[in-house]
Amino acid sequence: MKKLFIANWKMKLNLRESRDLAQKYLSFYQRAGLQGLPAQAGKLDVAVAPTSIYFPEVRSVFNNLIPLSSQDVSAFGNGAYTGEISASALTEFGCRYAIIGHSERRINVNETDLLIKKKISQCAENKIIPVLCVGETEAERKKGDTDTVILKQLHGALENQDCFPGTELVIAYEPVWAIGSGNAVTPDVLQNVARLIKRGVSGMFTEKFFDDKVRIIYGGSADAKNAAEILAVTHINGLLVGTASLNAKEFFEILTLVK
Ligand code: PEP
Repeated sequence: MKKLFIANWKMKLNLRESRDLAQKYLSFYQRAGLQGLPAQAGKLDVAVAPTSIYFPEVRSVFNNLIPLSSQDVSAFGNGAYTGEISASALTEFGCRYAIIGHSERRINVNETDLLIKKKISQCAENKIIPVLCVGETEAERKKGDTDTVILKQLHGALENQDCFPGTELVIAYEPVWAIGSGNAVTPDVLQNVARLIKRGVSGMFTEKFFDDKVRIIYGGSADAKNAAEILAVTHINGLLVGTASLNAKEFFEILTLVK
């Protein structure tokens, strides 16, 4: 299974900065490609999630070499939904992945599991690969509720989704306390969570679905220093990278760690 690396630029860059960073990505991608980045050997998938109104600009810099991800998607199909961006509109701009249920949306705009579930359906209908984010807060971790929270989020978003097992799925484990904190999860904790996610998803669907169509990636202060040990954890198939993805050199250093 190919490892997946998504750069989440969040809402941190303006148009000029997004274009400049995309240029840097492109030159690293092309240079690294020449030196035999595993992408060339089909070992990894890369995607970039800029602010979605910048898609056309970033896409034209990438010249179709690096796919795009959205940072969110509407739970609704086309219609009277002011301010929303539909999955079908995202596909028109070449969007291959959609980050769904990021903790910054669960917390800041009160996204519920039900809404997240509808967003996943919209992605599936429009052939966008959903990247479902799950993860516990600091308080939940301290109470020993990590497993309960993750299982609840998984069930809330995935149970009885009839797009599965037909559709590919990415699950991003992003402990809220690790995001932007400089403290990534330890490999042993990550190992337990990855096993839990595998059990949860296989229980709702089948182990074959998990093995064939599901990738678990990790997000939360992942960088070039800790990526190798995170990627060595069983069932971890990539990274969702925020802060470190704003530095093109560091992001591409992370990619070169893929074995
Ligand atoms: C994120 O918020 O998706 C993320 C991974 O952020 P950071 O890498 O900055 O922790």
